[in-house]
Amino acid sequence: MNNIPFNKPFATGKEFDYIKQAITNGHLSGNGEFTKKCQTWFESNIGCQKSLLTHSCTAALEMAAILADIQPGDEVIMPSYTFVSTANAFVLRGAIPVFVDIRPDTLNLDESKIEAAITPKTKAIVPVHYAGVGCEMAKIKDIAEDYNLLVIEDAAQGVMSSYQNQPLGSLGHLGTISFHETKNVICGEGGALLVNQPELMERAEIIWEKGTNRSQFFRGQVDKYTWVDIGSSYLPSEVNAAFLWAQLEAADTITQKRLEIWETYHQAFADLEVQGQVHRPIIPAQCQHNAHMYYLLVPDLDSRTSLINTLKQYGIYSVFHYVPLHSSPAGIKYGRVDGNLSITVELSERLLRLPLWVSMTEDRVMKVIETVYKFFS
Ligand SMILES: *Cc1c(COP(=O)(O)O)cnc(C)c1O
Repeated sequence: MNNIPFNKPFATGKEFDYIKQAITNGHLSGNGEFTKKCQTWFESNIGCQKSLLTHSCTAALEMAAILADIQPGDEVIMPSYTFVSTANAFVLRGAIPVFVDIRPDTLNLDESKIEAAITPKTKAIVPVHYAGVGCEMAKIKDIAEDYNLLVIEDAAQGVMSSYQNQPLGSLGHLGTISFHETKNVICGEGGALLVNQPELMERAEIIWEKGTNRSQFFRGQVDKYTWVDIGSSYLPSEVNAAFLWAQLEAADTITQKRLEIWETYHQAFADLEVQGQVHRPIIPAQCQHNAHMYYLLVPDLDSRTSLINTLKQYGIYSVFHYVPLHSSPAGIKYGRVDGNLSITVELSERLLRLPLWVSMTEDRVMKVIETVYKFFS
């Protein structure tokens, strides 16, 4: 059997047709027919009030930071166990990321530790839905309401997931999602900003269009198009949107296939968990997940390193993440820690992600499972 890569981007087969159609349409810059189709899909399937397609989730987070009116010195509460863009977007506006520990079961922001981190400078809470499993949003929203804070969901990994039957990205004031090739539904590089707060819609569109009122001009709402606010070029081209449209049409099939592989791993590793060798992911009852990743928590850093090496000897590529942001050079420089981040530190050394991609065959999944068992025997 060939090597088993960690990820292999999936294509539905329709991508070429839609890209060809975008070329035939003669509109290749942003905000054309395919962009509108994708945005309508988010609005009806995620249930956000308005959505704007972006060239990355990083861009969507930057837009969210501008929309949240983050000023230098403001504080934004987030986990340390996340991708750099969660923090960078706010640091770019002069804010201080305040890192709080995660829950040991879901590796999501520990909602019971948020209140202690709030100061008069706190502006927003950024829950990151790790592995597409929802954070405890009911509690987080209550805290945000009590302290008058914005909730910006980093739902980069959460397309097709829900919490209490509500899609991730539709629960906070703002939500952001990613279509990077390592995510479930992809277009190479891409993302979206989801706006759930009607008052923020108009400004979101202006920031998206380089700080101009171009969209209002095209709708005939203003008689000239001019620079009205800060902004940047956050739109992806129609080529990317066309690719994404093919994937959104297949989003159910993609999720179903990933869930099957996830379940195969999960059932297979139940014994290993009983033996006390690993811990498997925990999905709370109120969360429907999208099988964004399958990970194992192994005993310690040394066993993780040896397991990665053993898998590699058998041609299987597994990966770990993240270097906790509070311990990274930029995190130390720009951020602040609240309380003790012991769960973050411990679990970031014990977590290992196994290969999981849509066209992964059953024999490959079995080979990964057998090799993990071989390692622990
Ligand atoms: C992937 C990811 C991002 C960044 O997404 P891009 O589309 O690559 O910019 C941000 N946050 C989290 C939690 C992610 O997993």
